[in-house]
Amino acid sequence: MTGQSFAGLDPCVHCGFCLQSCPTFLVTGDESDSPRGRIVLMRSLARGELDAADRGLVFHLDRCLGCRGCEPVCPSGVSYGPALEEARRLIGARRPVPFSARLTASVLAEPALRAPLMALARMVRPLARRLAGGSRAGFMAGMLAATKPWQDGRTAKRQGDQGKGHAPAVALFLGCIMDGLFGHVHQATERTLRANGYRVVDVPNQGCCGALHAHAGLHDQAVALARANVAAFSQAPEAAIVVNSAGCGAMLKEYPRLLAGDAAVAEAARGWAARVVDVTEALASAGPRPGAALPLTVAYDPPCHLLHAQRVADAPLKVLDAIPGLRRVAHGEADLCCGSAGSYSLTEPDLSRAVLARKVEALTNGRLDAVATGNPGCVMQIGAGLRAAGRDVPVVHPVELLDRSYALAGYYDA
Ligand code: SF4
Ligand code: SF4
Repeated sequence: MTGQSFAGLDPCVHCGFCLQSCPTFLVTGDESDSPRGRIVLMRSLARGELDAADRGLVFHLDRCLGCRGCEPVCPSGVSYGPALEEARRLIGARRPVPFSARLTASVLAEPALRAPLMALARMVRPLARRLAGGSRAGFMAGMLAATKPWQDGRTAKRQGDQGKGHAPAVALFLGCIMDGLFGHVHQATERTLRANGYRVVDVPNQGCCGALHAHAGLHDQAVALARANVAAFSQAPEAAIVVNSAGCGAMLKEYPRLLAGDAAVAEAARGWAARVVDVTEALASAGPRPGAALPLTVAYDPPCHLLHAQRVADAPLKVLDAIPGLRRVAHGEADLCCGSAGSYSLTEPDLSRAVLARKVEALTNGRLDAVATGNPGCVMQIGAGLRAAGRDVPVVHPVELLDRSYALAGYYDA
């Protein structure tokens, strides 16, 4: 696995085309904080010229967002993401994973620990909204406040399947943070899928995708979570696995590589991963059906794990364009990471905020009614950044907008 992952760096010819697409390089201007510089470091690690505990190597790889913005712009086809994960696994084997990261990972992986914590977080959400601001504590409060449903108290009732037994089946991946803090997005996802003719089947015993564990170097925990999810969704083999969190979707599609240590499981995971689609892909392939008018000006901000890691660019735009009256505006920083990147905003708070500042500046140039993005970390990071900048602009998932449009069109028994 080591050789395979680092072999993805072989095509790099050091041309530097990727530098202007790297958010950390744009902030620091340091070659070692660029894809090209980090590739040199990782190649040295692969060749044994640098130790996995080397301070320079660890420092600059820790500062990488893992956003993979460097991949689509590379004319040589360098595969950066798998090499970064392998380098982090080797680093993780040489240094203790910080207690805070292990605690967070354990809580997210264990439903019995996660549920009460998420319930408490939902309870203090209104207070967080009042405490949100520009200080470090205020920013954390702003992140929690941003998880609040966009349309409070307007939840439509769950409607029955439109296509009954012959309709294509989909199973929703629930995740951990999404399930705990974004239940309203799950409800909107199910309603909009049903309104587009899908049959939604429940899959019990599924869990966290393991992305945070893999990124923190907790390889064995990530593998255990992947195995459990493969087994759970194998109970509904006819259903596409629909994901509404870009980070989770990218991770699920990576399971064959994560499980490569066990040939039989990896083979099963390959067919399994081919069933994974983002919710916007499922909706776009069905139309999506147009709804009622929503006269809103909305900026779409693509999550890195959807745009760069999964290469899904058009489907979210089709979802937004199914809403009559919605004016979709572009902004210049859309292709760059917001600085959320899993636990990055906690482990590298200063660089994370500096990366976010560019995006917030672009988003506050004109009047906006909402920002749409399909990843919980991005919703929280951009939401907190806008609030810290004194702007009360909601950050929502695209399906929340479509759901509101469908409710107004009378598609639901609201
Ligand atoms: S990763 Fe690609 S774009 Fe960047 S320096 Fe290497 S070859 Fe050039
Ligand atoms: S993954 Fe993102 S932060 Fe890391 S080198 Fe590539 S563009 Fe830069």
